[in-house]
Amino acid sequence: MKILSLLGSTGSIGVQTLEVLRGLRGTEHEYRPAVLAAHSNVERLERQVREFRPEAAVLFGKGAAKDLRDRTRDLDLTVLSGMEGLCEAAAWEGADLTLNAVVGMVGLRPTLAALEAGRPVALANKETLVAGGALVMEAARRSGVEILPVDSEHSAIFQCLRGNTRAQARQLLLTASGGPFFGWTRERLASARPEDALAHPNWTMGAKVTIDSATMMNKGLEVIEASWLFAMGPEEIQVVVHRESIVHSMVRYADNGVIAQLGTPDMRLPIQYALTYPDRLPSPAAELDLFALGRLTFYPPDREAFPCLDVAVEALKRGGLAPAAVNGANEEAVVAFLRGEIGFLDIPDLVGQAGARQPDAPADSLEAVLEADRAARAWTAEQVRGRAKRN
Ligand code: NDP
Ligand code: MG
Repeated sequence: MKILSLLGSTGSIGVQTLEVLRGLRGTEHEYRPAVLAAHSNVERLERQVREFRPEAAVLFGKGAAKDLRDRTRDLDLTVLSGMEGLCEAAAWEGADLTLNAVVGMVGLRPTLAALEAGRPVALANKETLVAGGALVMEAARRSGVEILPVDSEHSAIFQCLRGNTRAQARQLLLTASGGPFFGWTRERLASARPEDALAHPNWTMGAKVTIDSATMMNKGLEVIEASWLFAMGPEEIQVVVHRESIVHSMVRYADNGVIAQLGTPDMRLPIQYALTYPDRLPSPAAELDLFALGRLTFYPPDREAFPCLDVAVEALKRGGLAPAAVNGANEEAVVAFLRGEIGFLDIPDLVGQAGARQPDAPADSLEAVLEADRAARAWTAEQVRGRAKRN
């Protein structure tokens, strides 16, 4: 049996990961989660702990961790908390794999802790690579361990690269659903409300990534993520709007052959592939019915209505700390939008300005990345307060 450390177990990806684990019972890829970690959802984590009986559980919040400890006195369970606990979980002694599905750049230190301990990482937490890509890739190289993408597009590219020569890959074609506001004009977007943005047509996900999909910041973050994972420059990555979310991404090769990975939109497929790689086992994902689909469509992205895409690509081109600043500002702006403090179009505006304010500097230490993130958040929060007052 293989041993897993699962960070973000109570979230959308975390819950689906546990579903996949149930399905893998009795196979050669059966996993036992030795540690489950979350932020503060005590009730859900307690239920998970009672079913999966890990050795340890982590809640980031100290009060929540104390609550969990009190509720699980009848179990032989170690309860940890804070960033220290999260990093200990990430580098869990004896684990074969760490799956990082926390949301936000808070996942950076745990990812580094896992890699530095020589643990392969299945990565859903894209903000980690956006903010600290250089540090993360360097830590993986030094330890000689693999990063297995969980994000569906990156899993698709990872699969499309198998059996081919990486140097002969010419372009990554990163598909995007276009989100709930596909076809909307800027005028119409100005009045988009959180509940409109939370209604994604194809995927049910956590709130942050759902808003990122609506602004297309998600695709921008994914361009940066792909650039790190597959060592491709921004000009070698093309975003393709594909409303049906069936083609999860593609690779164009030197001979103009394009290899694509298709499937029903179901995160349990890329999650399972990361857990069973390089094997493929029966999965809970529904069989793809091409005749029922009939046709698939592709469009160029509307860069004017969704400027976040170019803000992120610009940050990637600048490199250094620019992506960390843009990511930090975005995390802050998304929370403010969800609270109703700013409008939808304030998100690209604030994120773009925060990126432009970040001086050019290398992302060569964790301290530098954390400081760029902190400064961008502080500036964005201040802007939000100013705008909220005016509204
Ligand atoms: P959710 O918001 O559903 O879940 C986030 C998880 O992270 C929860 O378990 C939450 O705990 C935990 N968490 C948040 N902050 C901390 C912290 N400081 N310490 C420990 N745990 C923390 O997000 P998703 O599952 O949707 O997304 C997770 C990541 O995967 C994101 O980076 C997202 O971009 C990426 N992703 C998600 C996809 C999806 O389909 N959902 C698809 C592709 C990528 P708690 O419940 O206690 O708050
Ligand atoms: Mg994705």
